[in-house]
Amino acid sequence: MAKEKKSALQEKKGVFVSEITNATSISKIKKRRKAQPNTDTLVADILNKNITALSRAITLIESKNPEHLSKANNIITQCLPHANKSIRIGITGVPGVGKSTFIETFGKHLTTQGKRIAVLAIDPSSSITKGSILGDKTRMEDLVKDKNVFIRPSASGDSLGGVARKTRETIILCEAAGFDVIIIETVGVGQSETTVHSMVDFFLLLKLAGAGDELQGIKRGIIEMADAIAINKADGDNLKPAKLAKAEFNRALHLYPEKSSNWLPKVTICSAIQNKGIDTIWDIILDYVKVTTENNYFNIKRNEQNKFWLTQTIENQLKSEFFNRPEIKKELSKQLQLIDNNKTTPFAAADYLLSLKN
Ligand code: GDP
Repeated sequence: MAKEKKSALQEKKGVFVSEITNATSISKIKKRRKAQPNTDTLVADILNKNITALSRAITLIESKNPEHLSKANNIITQCLPHANKSIRIGITGVPGVGKSTFIETFGKHLTTQGKRIAVLAIDPSSSITKGSILGDKTRMEDLVKDKNVFIRPSASGDSLGGVARKTRETIILCEAAGFDVIIIETVGVGQSETTVHSMVDFFLLLKLAGAGDELQGIKRGIIEMADAIAINKADGDNLKPAKLAKAEFNRALHLYPEKSSNWLPKVTICSAIQNKGIDTIWDIILDYVKVTTENNYFNIKRNEQNKFWLTQTIENQLKSEFFNRPEIKKELSKQLQLIDNNKTTPFAAADYLLSLKN
């Protein structure tokens, strides 16, 4: 019996403490847990395109343990000089529009050209509903098997801001690991599209053809953000409505002011399932990179994004340090009670809480 337990301890990762029968086993497990490669080794392995090392480093980024976070920061800093080299593409669209089918076909189109691609996701649903829109089903089954593809599901987090920071840092590691194209997928829930837009070079909106009222129900701002709109499922009976939708979007886009990138957003149709029009979308992206590199917008945008993320990170860090202070936690609940009882105002309470010393 004891022998069985011992072998179970050697095999299983998530072993329960109650299964452990003696102190020797505990110390062995502790030693094994500590036997993580050091950060320098991880960085060297990431630069050598080692996917296991990349995954481990991302797990450190996603951890809540302060020790892991400081390791993660060290790794990111060392990877930064090797980052910045990929094309970052954001893809959004409602559930069912065909995002995973599209990414699968698009991904294969790129890998056959010898490109290495990383697919990351920002799933705001996990922080809003505690469930997942993007992650629950088995997605991109073929792409997962491709050795030139790295797929990482959405980090979980308390807030979209938290998930976004982790994704942003993961991009840096993926670039250091030599991925040529980074795809960041999201569904249009809450602010997720704006968040993805703030970390990519090119933003692609996937749409479905409707009954001629294409512009209805489309979120304000999303058209301004899109560098291209692809009407998916343009096959079979859907081909004609898709073509009509394309014309309607094209008309609508002309009403928008010219972008500072000098790029006029393109509208195209595709069938992810039949692999039609996918090559055109890649050509559009390459054209965008060419135009915006020539007029320097590509770099200007990345610099602006860096500045945005600097202030975002400081704001988030200050906020979480503040709210995690034991004294603030205690006093905050008292102040909330006072607000409930009309004994103070939110502004006076905020002034008081901010005035408390460390
Ligand atoms: P997601 O929720 O946006 O990731 O969408 P999926 O990729 O899971 O696709 C939703 C459904 O639409 C699936 O049944 C797909 O097979 C189907 N689908 C995706 N792309 C196409 C397409 O180009 N044409 C057709 N006819 N169906 C598609």
